[in-house]
Amino acid sequence: MSQTAPKTEKKTIIERPPVVTILGHIDHGKSTLLDYIRKSNIVDTEIGGITQKISAYEIEYSNPSTKLGARKITFIDTPGHEAFQEMRKRGAKVADIAILVVSAEDGVKPQTIEAYKAIEESKTSFIVAINKIDKPNADINKTKVSLAEAGIYLEGFGGSISFVPISAKTGEGVNELLDLILLSAEVANLTGDSNASAEGVVIETSRDQKKGISATLIIKNGTLRSGAFIVAGKAIAPTRIIENSQGKKIIEATFSSPVVVTSWSESPKVGSAFKIFESKKEAEKAVSEESALCGTQAPSRDGVPSLRVRSSIADSSETASPEISVVEFPIIVKADVAGSLEAIMYEIAKIKSEKVILKILNSGTGNITESDVKFASGGKGAAIIGFNVSADASATVAAERIGVPIMSFDIIYKLSEWLEEESKKREPKITVEEIAGTAKIIRFFSKTKDRQIVGAKVVSGEIHTGHKIKIIRNSVEIESGIIRGLEQAKQKTDSVREGFEFGTMIEAKLDLAPGDIIQDIVMVEK
Ligand code: GDP
Repeated sequence: MSQTAPKTEKKTIIERPPVVTILGHIDHGKSTLLDYIRKSNIVDTEIGGITQKISAYEIEYSNPSTKLGARKITFIDTPGHEAFQEMRKRGAKVADIAILVVSAEDGVKPQTIEAYKAIEESKTSFIVAINKIDKPNADINKTKVSLAEAGIYLEGFGGSISFVPISAKTGEGVNELLDLILLSAEVANLTGDSNASAEGVVIETSRDQKKGISATLIIKNGTLRSGAFIVAGKAIAPTRIIENSQGKKIIEATFSSPVVVTSWSESPKVGSAFKIFESKKEAEKAVSEESALCGTQAPSRDGVPSLRVRSSIADSSETASPEISVVEFPIIVKADVAGSLEAIMYEIAKIKSEKVILKILNSGTGNITESDVKFASGGKGAAIIGFNVSADASATVAAERIGVPIMSFDIIYKLSEWLEEESKKREPKITVEEIAGTAKIIRFFSKTKDRQIVGAKVVSGEIHTGHKIKIIRNSVEIESGIIRGLEQAKQKTDSVREGFEFGTMIEAKLDLAPGDIIQDIVMVEK
């Protein structure tokens, strides 16, 4: 690799390792697979060294049976396919290959389909990994059928999508999966120019009191060297401190390596593309051009555009009845890293309720602090939601004192499920009238004061003793009353079903007549 050659001098086109993302339904084994691959293929050079938790890692894999030389693969550990979709929307196609994990126990589930759609839309080549084959209830064939039912046709099963049965737990089939990844990369002919200056995608940002703002980048082309400046959107960082995925300081990195760069001027957006400039002046010029293009858009918090989390009522206000009161559910969201926060915001934006507005009081990365609790106490009924973060001791004490619930999650799905349930609980209840049944009066028998005896037939639903009724004549409500008694085939009864004739005593002032419609009214809490 030519370290000193100027970027314009000549091109050095060489094969580029694939960047792989793992998608699929919750609990189908994405994390377990990532962990297995990481553990079995990363040579820990420093014994006892702590592998830092970043959202991407690089492995060097050589299949022991094929004896091919070691080859690199980069895995990105995005918190979910929402983040994957977001990256794609911003035009940065970060992954070259996707692995769609499907549990051989459960088969296709809703998020399998969502992930498949995201893969299809981004035109990313992908491999299906049928996971958990070690489990007693695993059924590979049934899984293939459920995939075909979802339009995912595997090789030998009506289609050409490559697949591997694996166990992320025992490791069975994982080498075959890695071989397939390398084969797909070969077919895709992934190349890069190691002489070009680096470009790529920001996949994660985080904030640390000591280090400042860091970002994890995936280099998609060129070489990143220290001594330059990176620009991603309006954020700038010197390439003074570059770390590899194991937290080791390095002076240069090339495609498709994940690197962590610290000291950003502000959080770059997750999914934004980055470029390198030789001098600070050039970098600043690029940023001012970018700002001019972006107009007045305010910088986002932690790279998460705040605009996207709209109140859910905004979407439904047209249909919402004006009588239904709406309540706010104020929340503060804290996550470990910007990538997770982004995925959470997406999940939250999907929660729809006509009566409860999820109001994000604040969001950010890092532990839950006392100031978060104070902030939450300003919103009536507020809750603090933490994802992969803990609460400072002072925050826990303050939260207990003020009565602000702190909810911690480590699975995004569970977090949004809780929010959905909690929103439902908080919906203001209203009582509405519903028609339980209608009947047509056939015969009028007698009237004593306001007690009238008539014969009728149930047209729809059911008629009940004790229920309130409305009397409709010529499509107009003329009277209301109560059913005091019912008789069917000369037997007393509490209710009469559709299609049956009955006799009834109705309490109503106006004289009833054949042809009148009785509506049986119930009050329903909604
Ligand atoms: P994710 O939500 O898709 O990341 O799923 P996880 O990796 O967290 O896995 C969910 C659960 O399934 C965990 O309890 C794993 O230990 C278990 N699991 C994942 N893969 C396998 C597998 O191949 N075999 C078995 N027996 N269990 C697995």
